[in-house]
Amino acid sequence: MTSSGRSESRELDNGLGTAEAVPLRKTMKFCRFELHNEVQYGLIESQHGREMIVGTCNPFVPGEPVRRFGDPLPFDKAKLHAPVTPSKIICVGRNYREHAKELGNEVPADLLTFFKPPSSVIGPGATIVLPKLSQMVHHESELGVVIGKRCRNVPRESARDVILGYTCVNDVSARDLQKKDAQWTRAKGFDTFCPVGPILAGGLDPWAGVGVECRVNGEVRQKGNTRDFVFPLDEIIRYVSQVMTLEPGDLIATGTPAGVGPLVAGDKVEVSVEGVGTLSNSVVDE
Ligand code: MG
Repeated sequence: MTSSGRSESRELDNGLGTAEAVPLRKTMKFCRFELHNEVQYGLIESQHGREMIVGTCNPFVPGEPVRRFGDPLPFDKAKLHAPVTPSKIICVGRNYREHAKELGNEVPADLLTFFKPPSSVIGPGATIVLPKLSQMVHHESELGVVIGKRCRNVPRESARDVILGYTCVNDVSARDLQKKDAQWTRAKGFDTFCPVGPILAGGLDPWAGVGVECRVNGEVRQKGNTRDFVFPLDEIIRYVSQVMTLEPGDLIATGTPAGVGPLVAGDKVEVSVEGVGTLSNSVVDE
């Protein structure tokens, strides 16, 4: 197991692999943070009403013990990185009816997917850079799903078994280039266009409904709920995994609710997912 969360040891098979992903228990929350100039996975627990990093533990290694600190670190003082280092980021387009409508699109009859490159990932507090090549960059607040085990051809009824946990994603998009280009490689792929974080959390139930919100400079721009997904999460995982092997740490961005809008230099953009927390990033011009 590398620090990236990828496993070399697990065999690929045509269904569920040899090791089950261990879904994070309701109380379990993890971050990636800097400690002694090294990036580590940290376990977060609430102590006396304050979120603390109580030790290190890689959630991608099933059964790995927590190495507890003598002195827990306050979470809000930690230098955070993105909580996952995905080998790929698979995004779902137009998965909320109202969002499809606002951009003048039909709800797709079949799932619409695209990639963001791993090089676009930034962590909480990092800066989104508006590229000179675009004059219209939008925020898209989304529920991020983190894969916990290597898998392929996952049937719908087994989808929950391959999910390790959840996070917030901002699928930052150059809307002008998206309209111009047949493929969205440029529109979705600039460096800094995939803020992820602040933590990896278990215990969410996107089928029952999880709130997803975006605020820009404190003003609510998007407010949705995963119960309004056009395609539910088990169908997304079935659909994607019939094409490609999913690796531990891979990230699925599940689509954005209505209310997307422009980002300009100086903005502070926040994505909140109920049960995860708030991912906050500033915006600058290239
Ligand atoms: Mg999106």
